Order: sequence, then structure tokens, then C-alpha cells
Amino acid sequence: MIITTAYSGKTVGVLGLGRSGNATVAALAAGGAKVVMWDDVPNANKMQDMAFHSARAMPPEQWPWGELAAFIISPGIPLTHPAAVRAREMHCPILGDIELLYESCPQARYIGITGTNGKSTTTALIGHILTHAGLKPQVGGNLGTAALSLSPLGEGGTYVLEMSSYQLDLLQRTKFDIAVHLNLSPDHLERHGDMDGYLAAKRHIFDRQGNNDMAVVGIDDAYSEGLCRALIAEKTRRVIPISAMGPVQQGVFAQGGNIISRLEKTERVADISRIPSLRGAHNGQNAAASYAVCLAYGLSHEAIVEAMQSFPGLPHRMQWLGTIGGVQFVNDSKATNSDAAEKALLTYDPIYWIAGGVAKEGGIESLLKYAPRIAHAFLIGEAEEMFAQVLEGHVPYTRCGTMEAAFAQAALMARKEGKKDAAVVLAPACASFDQYKNFEERGAHFVRLVEELRDGK
Ligand code: ADP
Repeated sequence: MIITTAYSGKTVGVLGLGRSGNATVAALAAGGAKVVMWDDVPNANKMQDMAFHSARAMPPEQWPWGELAAFIISPGIPLTHPAAVRAREMHCPILGDIELLYESCPQARYIGITGTNGKSTTTALIGHILTHAGLKPQVGGNLGTAALSLSPLGEGGTYVLEMSSYQLDLLQRTKFDIAVHLNLSPDHLERHGDMDGYLAAKRHIFDRQGNNDMAVVGIDDAYSEGLCRALIAEKTRRVIPISAMGPVQQGVFAQGGNIISRLEKTERVADISRIPSLRGAHNGQNAAASYAVCLAYGLSHEAIVEAMQSFPGLPHRMQWLGTIGGVQFVNDSKATNSDAAEKALLTYDPIYWIAGGVAKEGGIESLLKYAPRIAHAFLIGEAEEMFAQVLEGHVPYTRCGTMEAAFAQAALMARKEGKKDAAVVLAPACASFDQYKNFEERGAHFVRLVEELRDGK
């Protein structure tokens, strides 16, 4: 855990007492700050009040605003929240937990990763490669461990941080030695206003970089390519373009199952086609970015390629669970909309597809183009009826109701038909809230069913 001493003896307001807010209160309290804190969910306040002597839960209207040295807001809370408005009126600095980490451990190196998709995978992959090479990076931020729950690091230590656009909006002094922006597609526009606002937030990951710093930028969508060009034109840092769509001069790209680097005098090629956790074109982008970062960090081509082979992948993101009786099983529970589910449909063929839950706007019409790869669809949850109507006449389907029923029928049919490369894939293209607490619980259920099948239960 980080101990933040910069606010010792001072009063700090903390809004939002979830994972990152909890860690923030602990770090500030341990460092001798007086903390006033609040969460709009009442239970969170009670628990915190019991945990710390120097922290008091009280509504922001009652905070001693004139005394506050800083206002720390959880990234998920919009800056239009009345407490944030009040902070601005009072000229109180508004910060996030990443800023406190940076203030507390200024000697360490910082690698930051952002983008609309692939942040978690790329963060985990970079963390894995550095760890495999014998370094001891601390990996977290938006992914996994909250920034202030990580261990303190001094000179020679490295933080690998997944950064959401919300977290980037809150940075003041943090500077990334290596900053990655992967891609941009419409998301979170209710907060950022429009795509330009969203891009502007992402761009903060490159703020304050200088000559010795590095920007790794995906160029596969028009917004990100424009950003890459603008950064090159600035000439303040080294910029490495990356692509999953074709050759890039002085960059790194994915092509035909290989990662190809044109960063050194001679071209270097890394074969990633047999790494189950990196299957799919989208993972080509994640792998190219990770390669570029680790080379810039100082690792050798050989060390990077060797480490990539043992990347276990992240749970619920096209997680390959192995083969049983000639059939592959893939848990892509994180694919909660059709865009994300498309990645799995593009990667496997033939697919025994488990889909459904709470449908998102846009539905699954866009996925009909993959009909030839879908051997059969097994529908669950609220979206069953709607999905059945869309698939009618294009894809054979069965309305199964529950995951158990869908899994049993999909596994049986795939095995019976005995087609080469067959895969039972959970890629719901839906939220999970009708039947599960979240996508993690849904994915864990699928994994359990696979394990039971493997054990012959
Ligand atoms: P994030 O942390 O940005 O949400 P993840 O690494 O958790 O991203 O991946 C979430 C989903 O997004 C994956 O299941 C996959 O379908 C898709 N995805 C992953 N990487 C990329 C990428 N580079 N480009 C587009 N989609 C991606």
C-alpha cells in the first residue's frame, strides 16, 4: 500500500468510496491527513467510518471547504457532481488517485496505457513481459489493483497503469515515460460530449512528455492516426506508430500471425500465431503495442518473444479454456455488445455460439455477416426472443433459457458433429444483469461448466 505524506496535517475531501476511493482514504489517513469523505451509496460511508480514526464520513455540503488542500474524486463520478462544482468554485485542486501515486513515488518509471479497447489486455501483457524478464513491475490502475493499493517503488521500479479517459482527465503533474494509445471508437460520449472531447481526454496521456519519453500510438482508426501525426509534428518525444492492419515504417505491426518490428536496422519478426491468449486481429494490435513498449523499455527482441509465449491472457476476454473431445471452449463473457462479440466470431470457425442476456442498443444485426461461421446459436436470457427474430432464416438456433441448458446442448452438438476446429464460444453480445451480478460472474459460470465437463461430471 502507498502512504501519501504530502497532505500530512492537512484536510482532504474524498468523493467515491469504491475500490480506488477506499485505497485513497487509507493512503491519506496513513500519511497523517485528515480526511472527509462521502459516497452517494450510504453503506459505503458506514464501513469507512469504522475503518479509520482520522477519516470522517459526512456529506460534501458539510465539508470544511475553506480548509481543503485537495479534492480527490473517483474516476467514475462525473465532474458535474455538485461536490466537484463546489471544488472548482473554491479553487480547490481536483485530483485522482493516479496523481497521488505519482506524487508519492516520483522516482519510479511510469508506463500508461489507454484506448477504447484492449487497455486491460495490453496492460497485462506488458506487465507479464516485464515480469518474465526478471523485473518486478507493479501493474494496476483501472485494471485489477487500485493505484494506491500497489506497492511503493523508488528509482528503478516501474508502474504499468491502465488509464481510462476519466482518470486521464484528472491528471495534473503525472508524466508517463512510455505512454500508449491503442485506438478510439465511440464510447463514454455522455461524459466527453463528442468524439473530439473523448480524443482530447485520451491525449492527456502524452502531456508533459519530453525528449527522453516515448509515445506508442495505434494508427488503425482515423482519430488515432490523426493523433499520431500531430504528436510526430510536435517533435517533443519519440513516437512509435503501431498497426494491426499492415506495414508501418519505423513502427511495429501485426501481419499473418506475426508481429513485425521495423524499429531497428533489420526487420525482426515474432510468431504469435500459436499463442492461444493472443488470437484474433485485435490482439495483433495489443501485441504490437506491447512489443514496442518493451523494446523501448530496453528489453531484447528475444526476451519479449519468449515472454509472450507464456501470456495467460485475461479471464473473460476470449479466454481459451482448452479442448475437450476435439472441441475448443472459449469464454468471452466481457463481450457485452455486438462490436466486442464480433472479435470472437472473426476468430473461430465453426462456432457453437452462446449469446443473450440484456440486449444493448444496436442489437446483433451487424453480426449476421458471420452467419456462415456460426454452426448453431444457443440463446439465453431476456434477449432470446429478439435475437431469435434476427437469426431466423440466417442461422440455426435453439432457445435455451439458461446457461446450463445452452452449454449442455452446445457441447453435445459440437462433439457429435465432429467438425475440425469447432469451438463453443460464450460471446453474449449482451449485458448480464438479468441472470448474473456482472460479466465476471457469468464467465465464471461458463468456466465451471467447462471444468465439470472435463472432469466428466
Ligand atoms: P478494455 O480494458 O479496453 O475494455 P480489454 O483488454 O478488457 O479492453 O478487452 C475487452 C474486449 O475488447 C475484448 O474481449 C475484445 O473483444 C475487445 N478488444 C481487445 N483488444 C482490442 C483491440 N486492440 N481493438 C479492438 N477490440 C479489442
